Amino acid sequence: MTHERDAGRWLSMTLAQPGRPLQAVWREQRPAPGPGQLRLKVRTCGVCRTDLHIVDGELAFPGHPVVPGHEIVGVVDAIGDSVSGFESGQRVGVPWLGHTCGACEPCLAGRENLCPQARFTGWQIAGGYAQFAIADARYVFPLPARYSDDEAAPLLCAGLIGWRAYAMAGADIGRVGLYGFGAAAHLIAQVAVLQGREVFAFTRPGDRAAQDLARSLGAAWAGGSDEPAPRPLDAALLFAPVGALVPLALQAVRPGGTVVCAGIHMSDIPSFPYRWLWGERRIVSVANLTRADGEAFMRVAAELPLRVHAVPYALADANRALDDLREGRLAGAAVLRCGEADQA
Ligand SMILES: [Zn+2]
Ligand SMILES: [Zn+2]
Repeated sequence: MTHERDAGRWLSMTLAQPGRPLQAVWREQRPAPGPGQLRLKVRTCGVCRTDLHIVDGELAFPGHPVVPGHEIVGVVDAIGDSVSGFESGQRVGVPWLGHTCGACEPCLAGRENLCPQARFTGWQIAGGYAQFAIADARYVFPLPARYSDDEAAPLLCAGLIGWRAYAMAGADIGRVGLYGFGAAAHLIAQVAVLQGREVFAFTRPGDRAAQDLARSLGAAWAGGSDEPAPRPLDAALLFAPVGALVPLALQAVRPGGTVVCAGIHMSDIPSFPYRWLWGERRIVSVANLTRADGEAFMRVAAELPLRVHAVPYALADANRALDDLREGRLAGAAVLRCGEADQA
């Protein structure tokens, strides 16, 4: 480990073109933070399903090579001009929302997640599948000390987006169904249980590992998404990118209940009889996050003892982590250890 200024090669895992594996790119110069920016030495970065959608070309390719990763845990390594409130060596987190215009109607109304000029970490902005990252200091926040670097990374999207989806279901829910029991569901299940709610976990049919994980985290019931809910649900949160789950979830919720689609991409939703929606059931989507969501969820995560099931990979093994996520071979959340590439 060297502290010499700008010395030593550093690694990023870069997507040159969608549909291709990430390539290891070594650089000599550390990126310099501009005004308002921080340079972070990345410790860990979570692997999110959105990264897969970018790599697989299901989200628009931005037209330049992409460094994925929007669950960045790093320490402040250099501070740009006109940044206050951060000190060198401080541990911080960088989420998906990386820039907003601050002037449009949604921004001014507290819905910056819907800003048409928003830019996102690990998509338009180089992300955390790298040993260094540059972030706009206004979109960076401190992380609860109770979580290790491996544990903190999944909080930054799986936790945050899970939290926004959960909040969107309303405060008066008692029984909540989680469809797709991966990184987000395993965190939000614990929040729901700790807040006195009954959790029903719907996994890929036959995915015993995910069902066992769900039960161990307090789920009242765990089974396949092809099974009917044992009791009517007040809300269903969909974390799997499978449109066919929407009609299934609608049939599982009571009249007046809500189905929340939490992913940025989903396969087409098949048509279904109107009577399944009838009874004031609602289908809503969750788009991105606001900084207020981030602050609110980090307060919750600081108070509640969430058990984060992080599955660590070396940064250089990012393609293997993505493959494992794509194939459903993961129970919990994949996390890249970016600091370890120092030895490469
Ligand atoms: Zn994400
Ligand atoms: Zn805006």
